[in-house]
Parts: sequence; C-alpha cells; structure tokens
Amino acid sequence: MNRFLLFSVSILLFTGCSQSTNTGSGDGFSNLPRIAIAGIAIESSTFSPARTNEEAFHARTGDDVFSFYPFLSEDSPNRKRANWFPSLKGHALPGGTVTREAYESLVSKTLELLKENLPYDGLFFDIHGAMSVEGLDDPEGDLIVRIREVIGKKTIISTSMDLHGNVSWRLANHTDLITCYRMAPHEDAMESKKRAVDNLLSRIESGKGKPNYKAWIAVPILLPGEKTSTRIEPGKSLYAKVAPASEQEGIIDAAIWIGYAWADEPRNHAVVMVTGDDKELVKTTAENLAHNFWDVRSEFEFVAPTATLNESLEMAIESTEKPFIISDMGDNPTAGGAGDVTWTLKKILDHPEFRDEFGTSLIYASIPGPEFVEKAIEVGVGGKIDAHAGAIIDDRYSPPVRLNGIIQSIEHGDRNAETEVVVKVGSVQVIVTKKRKPYHRIEDFTNLGLNPEETDIVVVKIGYLVPELYNIRKGWIMALTPGGVDQDLERLGYKRILRPMFPLDKDMSDPDLSAKFVPASNE
Ligand SMILES: [Zn+2]
Repeated sequence: MNRFLLFSVSILLFTGCSQSTNTGSGDGFSNLPRIAIAGIAIESSTFSPARTNEEAFHARTGDDVFSFYPFLSEDSPNRKRANWFPSLKGHALPGGTVTREAYESLVSKTLELLKENLPYDGLFFDIHGAMSVEGLDDPEGDLIVRIREVIGKKTIISTSMDLHGNVSWRLANHTDLITCYRMAPHEDAMESKKRAVDNLLSRIESGKGKPNYKAWIAVPILLPGEKTSTRIEPGKSLYAKVAPASEQEGIIDAAIWIGYAWADEPRNHAVVMVTGDDKELVKTTAENLAHNFWDVRSEFEFVAPTATLNESLEMAIESTEKPFIISDMGDNPTAGGAGDVTWTLKKILDHPEFRDEFGTSLIYASIPGPEFVEKAIEVGVGGKIDAHAGAIIDDRYSPPVRLNGIIQSIEHGDRNAETEVVVKVGSVQVIVTKKRKPYHRIEDFTNLGLNPEETDIVVVKIGYLVPELYNIRKGWIMALTPGGVDQDLERLGYKRILRPMFPLDKDMSDPDLSAKFVPASNE
C-alpha cells in the first residue's frame, strides 16, 4: 500500500475527517494526494545591461495560478486527481539579469505560501532554467534547495523546463522527476508541463514514488537556439528520438537540454537526463541520446540564412514578393536582449530606399520609448511628432534614435507594452512602445492598423520566426546585428563556462559521455 493511502486510512480510523480542502471527491473526505505548485521562470542574459525587477514576473498566487495551466482547469481530469496547493508562479519575458532583491522577494513569498499547507505528497516545479540573478550562481538550484528546506525530502518534486534551460547537478539532485520541451519553437510547452504533472500523479497514485534512477550527462556543447530549431535537421531527428526513448518500459522520462548561451556560468551547456526504475536501461538510454547529440554537433547551422544588416536590406529590397522578413537578432527580447537597441532602426532610417513616404514599405517592430509615447499621446493620431526613442537601457551601439513623422495609431492596454504607438517616418512604420514587447502574432500588428502581409519588408526583434510569421514570410533572413544576445558567440567573451566547449573549442577531443547516476533527493 502506498504512503498516501496509508495516510488516508489513518485519517479514517483516527480523525474521521480531513482538514484539507477537497476539490475532487465531493464527499468532504480526502483520500487524494496533496500537491503544491511553484515556479519562477525567466531566461535572462548576463551579456545585456538590462535588469529585471519583480513586477516583470507578473506573479500569480493561490487559485490564480491555475489560469496558467489549461490541463488543471476546474473540470479537468487532473484537477480531480489531487488536492492542489498553488503557491506562487511568476513568468517574465526574457530579459536582463534579475535583481537580487526581486529574486529574494519572489522566493520568500513562495516559501511563505508553501508553509501554509504542509505536508505535500508532490510538488510541480515549473521553471524555465535560464534565470540569471545578481551575485548568485545557479538560481534554480538555489530555489529548489530552499523549497526542500520547507517541504522536506519526502515530497516528490516534478520539474518542468524549457529546453533552453540549464540542469545543474544540484537541480538534478533535489528534483525527482524532470522533463523539458521537445520542440523549438515551443509548440509543445503546455504538453510538456502536463507531462510533468502526469508523471507526478502516476508515481504518487501507483505508490512507486521517486524514481529508482536518475541519469545525468553533461554534453560539452553550447549553441544558440537559432541553430537548434527542431523544425530542421539535425535538431529535428535528434529530438525525434526523445519521445520513443521515454516510452520504454522502465523509463519515466527522457530529455535533452540545449542550454542557454547568453550567461557565463559553469552550468551553461547541454545536458541529457533520463529517469526510471530500470538501471541499465536508464543508463544506456541517456548515453545513446548524449552520443546522438555529440555525433551531429557540427551539423547545427542557423535555421535561416544569415547576413549583415546591409546585405539583408539589399536582399529584402530586391525581393518581388512580400513580406520579406528580417530578424533583428542581436537585441531579440525573447532571448534576453534589452529590446531597446537602436542600431538597426537608425541604419534603416538612414537608408535612401525608405526616405520617401512612397518608398519601399517597411514595418519596424519595435522600439521602447516611454517619453516618446507620452508625447505621442499629447499630439494624438494624425499629428506630427519629432522626438527620440530607444537606447535607455542598452546604448552601447547607438544613441536614442530620432523619429520625425506622423502618428498613425495609439493603442492602450497591452499586457507587456502598456501603450503602443505607430509613427510613420518616410516609408517606415515604426512601432514605439511604453515598455518592451515582442511582436510574434499577426494580431499584434493588425491591432495597430498594420498589415504585415501587404508590407514589403517586416523587421522584427526576434531570432527564428514563430509559426504565424513563418507562415506569411515570402523571404526571410536573420541579420547578425549587435546586442545582448549577439548570435556570434565567439564575440561574447566567456570567462566561466567549462572548457573545452564545442563549438568554441572546435578541435576538442571526444568527451566522456558516460551516464552519472544522481543521488536521490532523500539520500
Ligand atoms: Zn526556449
């Protein structure tokens, strides 16, 4: 008999009622497992001067946390399988290093909330895995240790991560179950989180508890996400091996992390992990995945052609079909760039092709400029404006850019941008935001009266295109522009990552890819 059944039988015999709030059985008596939810998620670049504060995490607490997870909605089967105790779940857009103050505040709120409903049979730990915090290495490893100090060692923790996160030995040690996305772009994000919860529930319900074995392999590869999309080879075939590997008898889950290239800590590298009860199979499955990864290391290329900005603009101008999309990669806020680098926009505005109102049409998305937005609100739609935007946080490459044009639209209420303004300068429609925001969906543009499908050139601060933009592109180039997430990793100047590391040390010899068994969290 498993532990929580024993627990409920003892309640029956000795207390006759349960103190816990029962969302499942409806008889006011609980024999369901008690599962907490916690997580702080961000991808943050240490090569960007930007800082991330607490409000950027839009932290939700208590029942509001359920709104993140459709598979835990009120009527969902999983909701009825446990008594859920959401603590705090914060999720920020990628950005710069998190301030120590913000991190400590989020952690202490999480721990206080967890203390309210002890003990737990399980905890769903939902993180990204690439958080950088001022003066602290391996923040997710720190967070799980501090959670363990509150909830104890018996609770089964199931961790869900982004494949661009990092799995330190410490994190692997203190979690029991662990999984990550198998697709980039992350179309399977919710499916992965659900898998983490399903695995947790089934280990609790079956009484099997913690896995007998966790294999961990550090793979000395560090690549940008823009080279490792699972839409194209070799990422496609590599990641296609993960699901079959995890479906074997004796295996709970298998996962490959690409890791995060824009932070400089010893934990920044690829990792393979496999969990399960069959020792030999856990070991060989992990080693096979690690070797498969290592064997294709030289085949990773950028997912689309890359070029300098000037070359990219020439190609886009020559293209006869629209839209031609240019990824302004170096300052991609969805990877951790400050998002306010003006270097690319300045070059575009200086280009003769775009000076005339009736020149080649171009949408630039986007540049933050809170003061510009304030002035635009004063002037109103249709009015003329002459003001500066951008380069408040990251002015290393170019100063604030002058935008002298006509205001075409002003929209309020976006969760990230708060206020968005479209200003037309020559033939360029520039989106200026109060706060930074990534432009990923067609709706992000059409809400502002813009029509990307009928525009000659669309420039977005992004790396690989998300599906909606990918589907409308008639041409696409990724411009190697400067910023906090420069794609030319050799320009970054790492000091603390482990060496040798591929591809920085191109001629390194084959590494030891034998599986290391991580101690159980309660050992
Ligand atoms: Zn990712």
